[in-house]
Amino acid sequence: MRAVVARGPGQFAMEDRPVPDLAPGHVLLRPLFNGICFTDKHVFDGHVARSAGLVLGHEFSAEVVGCAPNLGDWQVGERVSVDPRIRCGQCLACRAGLEMQCRDGGFLGVHGADGGLAEFVSVPSYALYRLPDSVAPLHAACVEAACCATRAVRSGVVAIGDNVVLLGLEDYNLYVAQWLKRQGGTVVAVDPDPARRAAALRFGASIALDPASETLVRDLRIAMPAGADVVMVAMEDYVPAAARYVAMAHRIARTQGQVVMMRAYGSQGFAAIEPSVAWLKELTIRHFGNFFGNEPARGGRPRGDWQVTLDAMARGAIAAPPPNTAIVEFSRLADDAEVSALFAGMPGSASKIIVDMNA
Ligand SMILES: [Zn+2]
Ligand SMILES: [Zn+2]
Repeated sequence: MRAVVARGPGQFAMEDRPVPDLAPGHVLLRPLFNGICFTDKHVFDGHVARSAGLVLGHEFSAEVVGCAPNLGDWQVGERVSVDPRIRCGQCLACRAGLEMQCRDGGFLGVHGADGGLAEFVSVPSYALYRLPDSVAPLHAACVEAACCATRAVRSGVVAIGDNVVLLGLEDYNLYVAQWLKRQGGTVVAVDPDPARRAAALRFGASIALDPASETLVRDLRIAMPAGADVVMVAMEDYVPAAARYVAMAHRIARTQGQVVMMRAYGSQGFAAIEPSVAWLKELTIRHFGNFFGNEPARGGRPRGDWQVTLDAMARGAIAAPPPNTAIVEFSRLADDAEVSALFAGMPGSASKIIVDMNA
């Protein structure tokens, strides 16, 4: 089978691999759509550790083509969305529904197990979520990114009527904008890319601003004279403007406001912080790096961030993929050079890149 493999930094390749065997407790899948994310770009550049020779792809939807014995729950032909976390299910973190912190954890396509950028992939059955009829496989490939936004918003960082600033409009904050559509406050979206700003306006942001604008702080003060109740920061070091986001967040948050770190790639942004601002304003700084949880007290997996996101997509409350997404045909990734170019070229003008595995 054809598979996109991470051989080493700067060396992503199209390889011919055997179809994986069905290990006990596993389901064999035919991937349908694979989202490419900045984490893959960090693997490409050698910034994120990954197992050598791993098949990439951690944001994917798929169809079931085979089941290990005694996995009667899954039928051939069923369509699924795949939670990429490998976990033991026994340790304290797993039992607390915080599987991202599992002591023996892994992540399909990043470390510990092959991902979905191949004609077939074998995954543990616990990773699968059935697709509601109204969620297309293309949309389901976006659940992984969308449910990071779900987790932050439902964790209570935004109250009804809050004024919110979204700094950095990668897919995470574009999903946050959709969750905040009816919360009643003003939502200001900030990003250097005009296509992402347009997407945020379509998804419910009240105002969209360019961080390079000389009038940015003045425009924010007009929109939120008392300062922002909440600033949600997606700091991604491939976006030069993001190096100023954290310091800017501290500056535009109101006294006793909250700064929420949705993504925290790169150290430059932290180096730019003036520590006394957060101290004197009594800011609360929160981080959401567990990505998606299944906390038992909230109802466990049936009410976890992944399922809640899928249900919201099924109701039409969360739209995916973001406007201006580039769809790349898997068959067009003919050789190593084209595979590497796909990752080296990020961030391009597209909001998101998704690979159509059957085209
Ligand atoms: Zn991702
Ligand atoms: Zn565990």
